Amino acid sequence: MNVTPICTGTTKDQLEAIRAKVQVMRRTSVTGSATLNKAETILARAEFETVLAKEQIRVTAAVELEMERARKRIHDRDNNAGDCCPMCLDDLLPLDFSGMKGAMFVCCGKRTCWECADKWDEKRADGTCTNRNMNECPLCKTIQPKEHERVPMLQKHVETGKGWAMNILSVMYREGAGGLKDNKNISYDLCLKAAKEGIADAQYEVARGYFDGERNGINFTKSETQTLHWARAAANQGHKDAQHLIGALHEIGQGVSINKDEAYRMYTLSAYQGNSEAACSLGKYVVMEQTNTQQVRKGMAVAKNVDSAQFNLAIYWFGKAAECGDTFGMANLVFQLLYGLSHWHKYAETDTLTGCSPLPLMMWLVRKIKASNHSSTSDAMDRQVIPVLKQYQDFCACCTRRPRKLSGCSQCKVFHYCNRKCQSKHWKEGHKKDCGGHWIETFFPNLRK
Ligand SMILES: [Zn+2]
Ligand SMILES: [Zn+2]
Ligand SMILES: [Zn+2]
Ligand SMILES: [Zn+2]
Repeated sequence: MNVTPICTGTTKDQLEAIRAKVQVMRRTSVTGSATLNKAETILARAEFETVLAKEQIRVTAAVELEMERARKRIHDRDNNAGDCCPMCLDDLLPLDFSGMKGAMFVCCGKRTCWECADKWDEKRADGTCTNRNMNECPLCKTIQPKEHERVPMLQKHVETGKGWAMNILSVMYREGAGGLKDNKNISYDLCLKAAKEGIADAQYEVARGYFDGERNGINFTKSETQTLHWARAAANQGHKDAQHLIGALHEIGQGVSINKDEAYRMYTLSAYQGNSEAACSLGKYVVMEQTNTQQVRKGMAVAKNVDSAQFNLAIYWFGKAAECGDTFGMANLVFQLLYGLSHWHKYAETDTLTGCSPLPLMMWLVRKIKASNHSSTSDAMDRQVIPVLKQYQDFCACCTRRPRKLSGCSQCKVFHYCNRKCQSKHWKEGHKKDCGGHWIETFFPNLRK
């Protein structure tokens, strides 16, 4: 998840100046509604950018600190030798951060960073690789195994107690890959062994089993202590899904005492690494006054009575989750936008918003959610959002008359008009801007991709 700081272009003084100007406009109510809409939009955007800049600093700091801890752990363990990429000698952090975890060769179980693995592939492709044989492992010089040779090679490593090989083989047995017949018992056996050898992916699988009571066809006796033990081991190694699980356990106080700071920190690290559920959890965390276990797991959290900064933060994280195609993220973003109708435009008549209306974006998201066949989320849209959007079918968005026959904007399908004249007037007045995208979308460039 890309949270690189963006240049906000708005200083504190500028923000105050915009705020003061809008306040005067609201108070005197002499300004026309179009001008007020425009001013409100500029203010909303500037406020969003300010909150975003702050959040990005917080996230970056949390990540840096975790990287530092990881580096220290590696160096302590390996007597300062470090777990490094044998090609470029950079630290191979046990985190997914920026792909530093790296590619692994099944011949020797050695890892290179992704960058070096890519360079190696390029060299092989263009024939400039210096090894005698292009199919040699760059690290141990073993000729790279063909598909059917992978299993015996891995089995040999399993016999000598290599956790990474146990994990790969466990996945192959689970999926019936590499010519193996799928076998959940052998798979789990290998998975547990790999977990004990310290392989994060395997540790997470075991943790999920103890948390859910079932994993990959294997039944578990649910256990809070076991869940915590394995999830923590994986999270300490930077496993993003385990970090999300640990965050949730700390938020609801399951197996541990409630620790909201730790929950928030874990969600942050997980979301940073691209876990969209964690991004959703951050959004919900921000808007929920008190934490409700059930709601955290599956419910929608609608921002009410939150201040402007919390509202913007929630938009940011739900938007990030929605960008990953996460249905809950999209649904929560819709609810925030619904609330945004009154939040961003406290003094404007929301029915006549032009050039800054979030309704077309909401409609787009709703259609996307409905297409995902996620029934509970879909139902929530039917109940709470579609009736709001449908109101706009009954009157002309331009002249507000209610003739019997209206035709809708074919692109956004939200606003309706009595004739082409009204439609083109509304378009020029600002619908041109919001029909294709609300200003908030500039912060989520991958949302509609
Ligand atoms: Zn490297
Ligand atoms: Zn090798
Ligand atoms: Zn009209
Ligand atoms: Zn439209």
